[in-house]
Amino acid sequence: MAEMTPRKRALLCVTGNKRRADRISCMDTLTTCTVDQMNAVKAPFPEANRDPELAFKLAAAAWEVIGLEGFKLPFDLCVEAEALGCKINWGRIDRHPSVETHVFNDLKDLKIPDDIVERGRFPLKHDVELRLRKEYGDYLPIVNQVTGPFTVAGHIFGIEKFCIWTKKRPLADVREALMQISEMNIADCKKALKSGTDVVCIADPSATSDILSPTFFKEAMLPVYQNMAKKIGAPIVLHICGNTSSYLPFIADTGFDAFSVDAQVDPGFAKAIVGDKIAIVGGVPTITALLFGTPQKVKEAAIDAIKKGVDVLMPSCGIPPRTPTENFKAMVDVARCMVYV
Ligand SMILES: [Zn+2]
Repeated sequence: MAEMTPRKRALLCVTGNKRRADRISCMDTLTTCTVDQMNAVKAPFPEANRDPELAFKLAAAAWEVIGLEGFKLPFDLCVEAEALGCKINWGRIDRHPSVETHVFNDLKDLKIPDDIVERGRFPLKHDVELRLRKEYGDYLPIVNQVTGPFTVAGHIFGIEKFCIWTKKRPLADVREALMQISEMNIADCKKALKSGTDVVCIADPSATSDILSPTFFKEAMLPVYQNMAKKIGAPIVLHICGNTSSYLPFIADTGFDAFSVDAQVDPGFAKAIVGDKIAIVGGVPTITALLFGTPQKVKEAAIDAIKKGVDVLMPSCGIPPRTPTENFKAMVDVARCMVYV
C-alpha cells in the first residue's frame, strides 16, 4: 500500500481523526523559522518577511531542511496591523517584526477598509501560498496563519489600553470591535483557501489568561471565535500562549478543530477537559526542550506528548529562532517512527 501523503495525514490528525492516519502528523501550524534554516536556504529575516522569493524559500525550508510535514505563512504576526496602518519594526535575523505604533484612539474609531486583504503584505502571503501549492502539488498541507482578533486589537489600539477597556467599557462594544476584526481574518482566509491552502491557524497569543478573565473569554472571545468557525470553511487550529487551563471548557465550544497548547498546559490535562470536542496539538516545549535541550531531551518530550494523546506533534509555541536544527529534527524523527499499536 502506498504511503499516506503528509497532507492527508495532517488533515486527519488536525481534525481529531488520527486513528485513521498511518501515524501522527508533525505539521507545524506555528512559526517554524530558525536562523539555521535562513542560512541554509539564504533567506534571512528581516528581508524574508517582505520579499516573495525569500519568503517562498524560507517557507519551503520547514520541509526541505527540518522535515516538518507542511508549510505555513506568514512568519510574523504584523500583517494585519501593518495593512491597517501601524508602523512596523522589522527586527533582525533572530528577532521577529513587532508593531511600533497604534492607529486608533478609541473603539469607535475602528474602521477596516473593504479591500483590506489587498493591502500591505496580504497579497504577498497569498501569492507565496499559491506558488507553494503549484510547486509541491498536493503532497504537503499549507497553513494560512491569521493574527487573532484580540492580538490585532492590542496592535491597533495598544494592548494596555485595550485590556483596560475589557474591564471598563461595555462588553458589547468591545465584542463588536473584536467581531469586526474577525471579519478581516475571515476575508483573509477565504482568499488564502482560493490560493491553495488547507488549514487555518489563528494565532492569538495575547488572549491569554495572564491578561483576560475566563468570564471575558466566555462572553467576548467565544462568540467571536464561533463566528470564525462558522464562516471560514476549513480546518482551524487556535493557538493562545501561556496558561489557558481556565479557558479549556470554552475553547472546546468554539467549533474549531484543534487547540495548540503552550508548554504551561499539560496536553493530557487538556485532553481530559475537552474530550473529543476539539483536538489538542503541540506538546514539545519550545524553551526547555527545543531551544536549550538536546536531541535526546526533545525525543523524550515528544514521546511523552504522544503518550498524553496530542493529535499533531508540534512545538508548544512559535519556534525560537536560535533553536538548533538537530533538536528540531529530533521531534520530526519521533513522529516518523511512531506507529499506533
Ligand atoms: Zn504561544
